[in-house]
Amino acid sequence: MEKKLLVYNSLNGKKETFKSIEKDHVGMYVCGPTVYNNVHLGNCRTFISFDLIFRYLQFIGYKVRYVRNITDAGHLENDSDEGEDRIAKKARLESIEPMEVVQRYTTDFRDTMAKFNALSPSIEPTATGHIVEQIEFIKKIIDKGYAYQINGSVYFDVLKFNKDIPYGKLSGRKIEELIHNSRLLDGQSDKRNPQDFALWKKAEPNHIMRWPSPWSDGFPGWHLECTAMSTKYLGIQFDIHGGGMDLKFPHHECEIAQAEAVYKKNPVNYWLHANMLTLNGKKMAKSTGNNILPNEMFSGENSILNKSFSPMITRFFMLQAHYRSIVDLSQNALEASEKGFNRLVEGLKKLDKLEASEVTSGLNIEDWIKSCYSAMNDDFNSPILIAHMFDAVKYINAVSSGIKQISNKDLESLSKNMKSFFYEVLGLLTPEKDENKNELKQLNGALELLMKIRDKAREDKDFETSDLIRDSLEKIQIQINDSSEGASFKIN
Ligand SMILES: [Zn+2]
Repeated sequence: MEKKLLVYNSLNGKKETFKSIEKDHVGMYVCGPTVYNNVHLGNCRTFISFDLIFRYLQFIGYKVRYVRNITDAGHLENDSDEGEDRIAKKARLESIEPMEVVQRYTTDFRDTMAKFNALSPSIEPTATGHIVEQIEFIKKIIDKGYAYQINGSVYFDVLKFNKDIPYGKLSGRKIEELIHNSRLLDGQSDKRNPQDFALWKKAEPNHIMRWPSPWSDGFPGWHLECTAMSTKYLGIQFDIHGGGMDLKFPHHECEIAQAEAVYKKNPVNYWLHANMLTLNGKKMAKSTGNNILPNEMFSGENSILNKSFSPMITRFFMLQAHYRSIVDLSQNALEASEKGFNRLVEGLKKLDKLEASEVTSGLNIEDWIKSCYSAMNDDFNSPILIAHMFDAVKYINAVSSGIKQISNKDLESLSKNMKSFFYEVLGLLTPEKDENKNELKQLNGALELLMKIRDKAREDKDFETSDLIRDSLEKIQIQINDSSEGASFKIN
């Protein structure tokens, strides 16, 4: 398939033809969650948007290295380098270890994303796993003259940087405005100027998350991890950097400044930002009660919606909007998506039972396929793709009731493409497959265990047991293959 993909680049506000640095390969970095709380639906929307993008890039033939970090240190309560570390605070409130907080909410995040059928990234690095890289990066920024150390902390010197390389190109903010709008320093901070940001913070005596560094026992600034990890795994220039719209400033702007300070090169070719999710027309916020967690949505145990909605309905609902538009979640909107999703699933079922005729009438299948690709090639326009799929369902119904016809060749092609767009591109699952997903996981786990028991039996020369396992599995169409690396199985 020809790759003529247009992507909207936040860096210049234009749709551009996507061209990867290395032919057929894409490097994509997406800012992941700060794991101090259950992942909220708005974040899920961001990651589902990038899951769609990841899936489509692979679908049209790219090999994608998708890096999505886990922020497990350094993210303070507010964005101006003040307040407590979010994870340390949670650990203090619950009297547990910070790493227990991290483990708990990383697991919650992964489980939730699995329910949404989001693919795992290729690399999922953590901030605490890359302290050394971050310290090295700070040293390089200091060497270039764009950072200063003061009382054990290190800050990025935005004004000095801006004299050599313009600061603010992603968010469109002018340095004069930033200076004008920044609050005066409150005397608590060591920064020379309010627009400067922390690269390393000296830990207060009661701060529990701390690491040794040339400057002090402390912790890295939040913006630094993404620069250190993206350049480590994707190179000093890479194709796509994504995240939620709210990260554009200051987080992404600071990432650009850090990378440019060291390498004097634009680090990222395409900046992609996913828009937010509102609830009943208002911003979601825990503090106002206008909030709903993914699991509360799936179980129906919440005071906002009067029924439960499955992860697939929720995913479908989100994909019915373009990733750059705001989506408003409400009872009515979800119910409409539920109906739409069910219609699509029914259409897929009917498709398998259609009978072919001599000729096709009523829909040009070639054109239909082209329009599906065109929708996705136009900055991943999933709502338009879904609209085309609804057209196909209408046509499938007409063929099924004998009003329209489809040839054998067209039927094959329609079926193949409908399924590819449904399962692979949109990442949806029919209710049957969704239910089977967990069972299949358990079955695989049980079979792995049987393989281990059989390997052990063979080691102990207990061939009676090893043969019993092999023969019994063969009877239920599960094939065992022995090789030098151990046994593997195949479900036929
Ligand atoms: Zn980031």
